[in-house]
Amino acid sequence: MIGLVLKRAIPGQLVIQYTDMCNARCPQCGMRKTEKFSRSKLCPDDVKKIIDAAVLRGVKAISFTGGEPFLFFDEIVDLMKYAEKAGIKYIRTGTNGFIFTNHDRADFKDRITRIAEKLATTGIYTMDQHRLSRSRSSRKHEGFTRGYSGY
Ligand code: SF4
Repeated sequence: MIGLVLKRAIPGQLVIQYTDMCNARCPQCGMRKTEKFSRSKLCPDDVKKIIDAAVLRGVKAISFTGGEPFLFFDEIVDLMKYAEKAGIKYIRTGTNGFIFTNHDRADFKDRITRIAEKLATTGIYTMDQHRLSRSRSSRKHEGFTRGYSGY
């Protein structure tokens, strides 16, 4: 997709920072949970208005970021579905992976199944395994590992 954006075949990506809240402590990041500042999140109805305005301007790609967007998983899923219905072709989000922690707990399978089923109701059909592999082999991953002990 980035190639199409750079060639201006599609308009640039709209990045919506849904929240600056985070549950990780990545040392390189000013939003780590140990930083003391007033946190906030966006209102879903306001975000829908932003999406509608973006569609009118021809935006084709939206990214929901944080902070940790999956702290508001249900809202993010609803907004991804809204964006898809509104005509946004490329939709992405991310997570620091906290949802995959505590795998030894009895409810882990049900929790992950619920997340997978909800994501399956969106237009997302893949995860970027190649990028994940590259980040795991880079120093960025070292910083992240130190930032989130459960990863
Ligand atoms: S998970 Fe992301 S937002 Fe949270 S502290 Fe790490 S880099 Fe920052």
